[in-house]
Amino acid sequence: MSKIQVNDKTFEIFLPKEKLNQRISELGKEITQDFEGEELILLGILNGSFIVMADLARSIELPVSCEFLRISSYSGIESTGEVKSVLGLSVSITGKNVVVVEDIVDTGISMNYLISHLSGLGPKKLSIATLLFKREAFRFNYPLHYVGFEIPNKFVVGFGLDYDGLGRNLPDIYQLSTT
Ligand code: 5GP
Repeated sequence: MSKIQVNDKTFEIFLPKEKLNQRISELGKEITQDFEGEELILLGILNGSFIVMADLARSIELPVSCEFLRISSYSGIESTGEVKSVLGLSVSITGKNVVVVEDIVDTGISMNYLISHLSGLGPKKLSIATLLFKREAFRFNYPLHYVGFEIPNKFVVGFGLDYDGLGRNLPDIYQLSTT
């Protein structure tokens, strides 16, 4: 299906599952080589990363433990606006190799917050893996070690990514249709 409807919006096919699977397995090989002889924690950011986590974890040939966390944002009482917190990290990452797994890095604000939070917990090595990266929207210059695809600054849905809560179960990635 090249066009689909999610809620009130029409999306068109952008990255088919074959391409996604192929790229994720390449990233898995890279991570396997980079951490040869070591253990690592894959740390998925909910909700969006659950599908890429499942595929990436299975393409890494190392002792891996899989953990998940959630970043919550809410309007704080201070005039600076958004306050974030990290929920659900139940294991110690001190002295461990950690690869954070995201579905998408857009402005990079969420990941920036997460990096400063996780660095403070003293991991041995902290690396970032993201399936998608909107370079044009990115406002920071921290490194993204494993990037699946650089994509244009357009809204995408599927393969874990939602529009208004729906579309995460679509096997392919779609972008907002212009027609
Ligand atoms: P940030 O701007 O902090 O890098 O991205 C914050 C979050 O916005 C991402 O984790 C993701 O949940 C959401 N997001 C950013 N761009 C898109 C997009 O194109 N599609 C969807 N479904 N979510 C997005």
